Amino acid sequence: MSTYCCVHEPHKASKSLFGVPNNLEIKILCKEALGVQLKKSHRVCAKHFYDNDIVLGTQIKDLLNIL
Ligand SMILES: [Zn+2]
Repeated sequence: MSTYCCVHEPHKASKSLFGVPNNLEIKILCKEALGVQLKKSHRVCAKHFYDNDIVLGTQIKDLLNIL
C-alpha cells in the first residue's frame, strides 16, 4: 500500500492515510473539495482534514445513517 498522499504535489504522508470512499456522491464531494482526480488507489493524509472531521473507526455508511 502506498504511503504517499495524492493531494497537491504528492508527498509522503506524515499522519494517517484515508482511502477514496466507495460512495459515488461522497467521492464527488471529495474530488471537488480537493481539486484532484481521485483514483481507487489514491490516499489522502489526515493533514487535509479538520481534526473534528476525523472519526476513527467510523465507516462511511455509519455517517450516512446519521445524516
Ligand atoms: Zn497530504
